[in-house]
Amino acid sequence: MRPDILNSYFAPITGLPGIGPKLAKSFNRLLGREDGARVLDLLLHLPASTIDRRARPTLAEVVPDTVVTLEIHVDRHAPTPPGSRAPYRVYAHDATGDIVLAFFKADRSWMERLLPVGETRWISGTVTLYDGMLQMTHPDRVVDAAGLAKLPPIEPVYPLVEGLGHGHVRRAVEAALAHTGDLPEWQGGEPTYGFHAALAKVHQPHDSQDAAPEGPAWRRLAYDELLAGQLALALVRARTTRQVGRPSLGDGRLTRAILAALPFSLTGSQNEALAAIRADLASNDRMLRLLQGDVGSGKTVVALLAAGTVIEAGRQAALMAPTEILARQHMKTIAPLAQAAGLTVALLTGREKGRARDALLAALAAGEVDLVIGTHALFQEGVRFDDLALAIVDEQHRFGVHQRLALASKGEAVDVLVMTATPIPRTLVLTYFGDMDSSELREKPAGRKPIDTRAIPSDRIDDVVARLGVALAEGRRAYWICPLVEESETSDLAAAEARFAELAMHFGDKVGLVHGKMKGAGKDAAMAAFAAGQTQLLVATTVVEVGVDVPEASIIVIEHAERFGLAQLHQLRGRVGRGDAASTCLLLYRRPLGEIARQRLEALRQSEDGFFLAEEDLRLRGEGDVLGTRQSGFPGFRLARLDVHGDLLTRAREEAADVVRNDSDLVGERGAALRVLLHIFERDVAVKLLSAG
Ligand code: ADP
Ligand code: MG
Repeated sequence: MRPDILNSYFAPITGLPGIGPKLAKSFNRLLGREDGARVLDLLLHLPASTIDRRARPTLAEVVPDTVVTLEIHVDRHAPTPPGSRAPYRVYAHDATGDIVLAFFKADRSWMERLLPVGETRWISGTVTLYDGMLQMTHPDRVVDAAGLAKLPPIEPVYPLVEGLGHGHVRRAVEAALAHTGDLPEWQGGEPTYGFHAALAKVHQPHDSQDAAPEGPAWRRLAYDELLAGQLALALVRARTTRQVGRPSLGDGRLTRAILAALPFSLTGSQNEALAAIRADLASNDRMLRLLQGDVGSGKTVVALLAAGTVIEAGRQAALMAPTEILARQHMKTIAPLAQAAGLTVALLTGREKGRARDALLAALAAGEVDLVIGTHALFQEGVRFDDLALAIVDEQHRFGVHQRLALASKGEAVDVLVMTATPIPRTLVLTYFGDMDSSELREKPAGRKPIDTRAIPSDRIDDVVARLGVALAEGRRAYWICPLVEESETSDLAAAEARFAELAMHFGDKVGLVHGKMKGAGKDAAMAAFAAGQTQLLVATTVVEVGVDVPEASIIVIEHAERFGLAQLHQLRGRVGRGDAASTCLLLYRRPLGEIARQRLEALRQSEDGFFLAEEDLRLRGEGDVLGTRQSGFPGFRLARLDVHGDLLTRAREEAADVVRNDSDLVGERGAALRVLLHIFERDVAVKLLSAG
């Protein structure tokens, strides 16, 4: 399937010189490919910044605290005296002055080889002024004339993981560049650099612009990524609408029964969304619709009623959730309503195993199950439907086009409804969903009370705990969300466990703990105990973020709120304010608070409107997030960054539309090049779709 020209790009990195099994493991971690990183992954791992080593002043000209490369003559060594903690010093000079090089824990014979007395060496690093003397502590580079010739004038700095140094990454990238070659041009315009040349520019910059996200090389690559995304969407869209849908005409029998079983009536926007969905289902075109709704806006009921409509027509529906907790919760909400309406629901996650699973699969294939709720497990092979009419994907940003298609391919001309937990700003809707139809639940169910949101510095945590004690004594229920540590799940976990232990000292067995590393049953038990009120305070990592619904919970404390994105905070806050009680959200932050973080917390205090907050989030990220690239990237994209490359999106979208208009099967020469592009950015599902016809 994959064009041969890409073989060197998709070869495992272990084939590169110098990468043995141990390094490979670290690289896999660095590149987020535990199953084995490929050369391409390495090439797409772009530098976070650069060090400019081009400044070559004399010692008299040196500006302290800047990075310089100096030509020096080595005068003498002053090794660390035994028992002292002083550094090993090397004295050197040039025609204009003197400098001291300082090394801690240095080995004498190694030092004498590195900086032989009487010789000339070039050193690169940051010079400081110490006791009136120029000093360089641990030069980054010490080279002789031959080494100098090879010293990159601008050195890329990469994000790293434990076990890897910059040297490892640079050498591996160098090998990867040598190992791969030019590819046919897929861009329609005339880019300054070809794909491979652009990669080489960014990884081996000669100018600081070369490796900057704003520079032409990186922009080319970002455009490629955006184009691949837009093209995949356009292709999917072209196919899905070209395939004639199969109208599902319900008689209203089940949906009426479901409505009758609900303890409330639908909001105006729920009714509107439902009408739009029903019209899609009844029409001859395939449905591809986005249901956007703020937390608690009542998407689940809309989903169930949509399912009811196709089931009335004698067909089946599937509802896919991103996590097991959420799938089970959907099941819990839906089961009683389904029972009241007389439709059969089943749950399928990774945890359904053995005989029960086989029986379930058989029932599904025989059409005895009307609605199946589950996780990724739903689109595995072996899951067959008698007649799947509607795939509902509770997306929450976590599934890509890929999974949506995989689920939709389980039936014939399946209608697709994608639900998003947090409203998505318009530009991002385009990025992820192309020109999908969209329904928005802007109206909240009646009777919701506003959530009292406050930002509190973390040094007042004792007050918070004391007040929490009062609330728990009154029988209230609360979440305590633990900090998100970017680097690793294990430290998230340690933080949550430590907080749990501490809160348990105050509140004993009223406290529960749930986190992502817990086994399914343990997680369920913790959630169930909290839902039943056996525990009143649930310490959690962000696993509760997505959709967890315990209406009795009326307090949420979010620790290190400054580390979360706005959308995520809003999503977390949405865990409360679901019941009759007035709710409180306490955002604990650590001082000093950065400007962007301050604005984020302020926005949250001011508004509960997810549509507004989504736009704010985008605006704040656009202004450059201090947290760096991770936060400012388009989620799900590797190179393209919203703040820097947002302007390329419309162009990519137009180019993609153009391609699909002129060569929707990608058969021409340019079409072939574009297929290569789709593979590079793993949008090849779209290619599969092409061959499926
Ligand atoms: P979300 O959009 O976040 O998935 P849910 O579907 O979980 O929201 O709904 C949140 C809560 O609101 C649920 O307890 C649900 O039963 C309730 N709900 C949904 N629609 C209405 C309505 N029209 N009136 C009152 N409550 C509703
Ligand atoms: Mg939901």
